[in-house]
Amino acid sequence: MLNRTILKALPAGVSAPAYDPATIGTGIVHFGVGNFFRAHEAFYVDRCLALAGQQGWGIVGVGLTAGGRSERKAEQFAAQDCLYSLTEAAPDGGRAVRVIGALRGYLLAPADPKAVLDLLADPSVRIVSMTITEGGYNIDETTGEFRLDHAAVRTDLASSAPTTIFGYVVEALARRRAAGVGPFTVLSCDNLRHNGDVARTAFLGFARARDPDLAAWIEAHVSFPNGMVDRITPSVDDATAGALNAASGLDDALPLVTEDFTQWVVEDRFCAGRPALEEAGVQFVTDVTGYEHVKVRMLNASHILLAFPGILLGYRQVDEALRDPDLARLVNAYLELDVIPRLDAPPGLDPQDYRRSVLRRFSNPAMADQLLRIGGDGSSKIQVFWTETVRCVLSDGGDLRRIAFGIAAYLEALRGADETGVPYTPTEPTLDATQLELAEAEDLGAALALPAFDGWRDIQSPALTDAIVTARRAIRDIGVRAALVQYGGLPD
Ligand code: NAD
Repeated sequence: MLNRTILKALPAGVSAPAYDPATIGTGIVHFGVGNFFRAHEAFYVDRCLALAGQQGWGIVGVGLTAGGRSERKAEQFAAQDCLYSLTEAAPDGGRAVRVIGALRGYLLAPADPKAVLDLLADPSVRIVSMTITEGGYNIDETTGEFRLDHAAVRTDLASSAPTTIFGYVVEALARRRAAGVGPFTVLSCDNLRHNGDVARTAFLGFARARDPDLAAWIEAHVSFPNGMVDRITPSVDDATAGALNAASGLDDALPLVTEDFTQWVVEDRFCAGRPALEEAGVQFVTDVTGYEHVKVRMLNASHILLAFPGILLGYRQVDEALRDPDLARLVNAYLELDVIPRLDAPPGLDPQDYRRSVLRRFSNPAMADQLLRIGGDGSSKIQVFWTETVRCVLSDGGDLRRIAFGIAAYLEALRGADETGVPYTPTEPTLDATQLELAEAEDLGAALALPAFDGWRDIQSPALTDAIVTARRAIRDIGVRAALVQYGGLPD
């Protein structure tokens, strides 16, 4: 079994931490010890811990959910001294395996809430980070406010024994304030635009409802940096875990695989200090907005542009869809002609390099990324990933064909069968049955009333409506591939 005693005798090709994990201190507490955190933040901190003077920045993970799976994970971490192996897989099949030692403890909050609060109140803790999923911040989508009516939040506001991350963090900040211990930085690593601002809204929303004085102190002293995080990290099932262990020669209960690409761009606002992450590859900036734009408009936008027609053509994985030359041409032409000329990239970021890196990453078979997952919740994703580009192309009179084809493919894919007749279930959590039926309406323009297209409705473009309806008709009459060739390539 993987644990500290075998670090000096790891199988050939597996790198050990370049420091002694038994001797590091705790500077960071992390909520939501999922795969992404283990492949991303913990990976960077692991690199930092190997540098002189950085050994106080070890991480203690906290799990908030009770139940068998969480307890099993806690037992597995304890048995392995919180060590685990991370396999970085390149698209060409190259692999590097390292044991990560940055996690020095793991606490299951429902089993020992006092230990979690004591730790959070400890002056050595200077950053509280989190990956609690996009929906974990409990923000009302329509008002943009923290939802005080949520049952667990109401319970936490009424008692001094917290159960939510908001309850724990705000109670800990109250204790630190009362004891004269300074604040810590609250660092969101979830995939949200301006994730620090979202976290700030959430924690301040909770704090205001609990104690306005405390909220004012938090507002004045706690920093919530925005960060752009990027590293595709799939979930690991038993078969994948077995294959990872067979390849590494380790007996690891918690092995992970991730891509060889990684990026973390963070605003340098840490109220209580931070590790020397810049020496571990993290990019510190004053404003993360430009990086978020590039990621959303290039990586996320082309991911769904590949997914919708890819699903219709019968593909199920991202890498296999990208190996289809017609789909690759569509994505390339979209990035080259529709996005890049209208993109305000931050200084030092070359959009052409970024385009090549996106396509290289999508081609990685080790990620085994599912097109149905990528294309799921298309309604929300289109609003976030395509809107700015569509608005730009509409306002400068650009070529609408690729955009029209992408939208047409989305609407056809909503019908739940690929062109070979194989059925699948599209995931659209925000659409009701009546809205979904619009995709089946005889009037092929009726579905343009869906919220996915709200972002450019005010521009009122009959040309785009016509192009979408014509593209849908083409997909049905001449088939997805012929329509793709007609619409998806370079201009005539
Ligand atoms: P995961 O399922 O492995 O882990 C999610 C973790 O969050 C679990 O530990 C879970 O217990 C915890 N969690 C969920 N809801 C919570 C809540 N309300 N309060 C507290 N804890 C909660 O998933 P993952 O792959 O690690 O992804 C987590 C997040 O990381 C994503 O939602 C996304 O924002 C971000 N991310 C993931 C990737 C990726 O490729 N996996 C890439 C970039 C960013």
